[in-house]
Amino acid sequence: MSLLEVKDIDVHYGDFLALRDVSLNVEPGTIVSLIGANGAGKSTIMNTICGLNKPSKGEIIFDGQNISGKKPHQIAKAGLSMAPEGSHCFESMTVQDNLLMGAYMAKGPERMERLEGVYKLFPILKEKAKQQSTYLSGGQRQMLAIGRGIMTQPKILLCDEISLGLAPVVINDIYDKLKEIAATGLTMLIVEQNVTRSLQASDYAYVVLEGKIVMEGKSSELNEDEVNDAYFGIN
Ligand code: ATP
Repeated sequence: MSLLEVKDIDVHYGDFLALRDVSLNVEPGTIVSLIGANGAGKSTIMNTICGLNKPSKGEIIFDGQNISGKKPHQIAKAGLSMAPEGSHCFESMTVQDNLLMGAYMAKGPERMERLEGVYKLFPILKEKAKQQSTYLSGGQRQMLAIGRGIMTQPKILLCDEISLGLAPVVINDIYDKLKEIAATGLTMLIVEQNVTRSLQASDYAYVVLEGKIVMEGKSSELNEDEVNDAYFGIN
């Protein structure tokens, strides 16, 4: 059974139809990626799953529950966590407080245990624990966003635009960490603009073009040239 099932959703911004008949499945324990160019609709898909946009048609089933139309905090409580693109941390708070915010509902010892788990994964965040997050580099912010997502102990982690604005060596580091996280069994849905990286990092991939899914398949079986053509809408 899928952990997350998006069924035939349409999403409008006013009169503009941003998503049309989008369907996707995320099986438990897998990494699924959304690939697409700027403006294709990837963020709209992510934001709709986590309740920030409402679909005008279709439904979203998460862990057996219909979450379409539910509020973001209800969806988060059901076990879905979104690591936004890394710049959205609380600048004036310390790194540690940013992380602890992710587990505000957990009891003291449990919170500290989760924190240690995140520090084990990202030792640099432990080094910077007492610093304001405004002083973090782009890559460290992205790690902080992922760390905060993990602090909620979600059933699924959504990561939007992981590599946005980061140097290739830093991106490699972050993807290595995602592999480590995946090895713990956490299910992930990620957005990535780079085709090669996306196929390497995921088990299954969807290509989004002009608000529609135009190609999908097991990442190991998709042909990179065909994915590139789909990405640019070349038939
Ligand atoms: P990017 O990589 O640039 O973030 P994306 O694939 O995530 O691109 P979306 O941000 O989901 O694409 O945008 C899909 C379409 O919806 C685009 O045409 C965009 O201009 C439009 N759009 C996105 N957000 C809004 C909004 N709040 N109001 C109106 N149109 C929007």
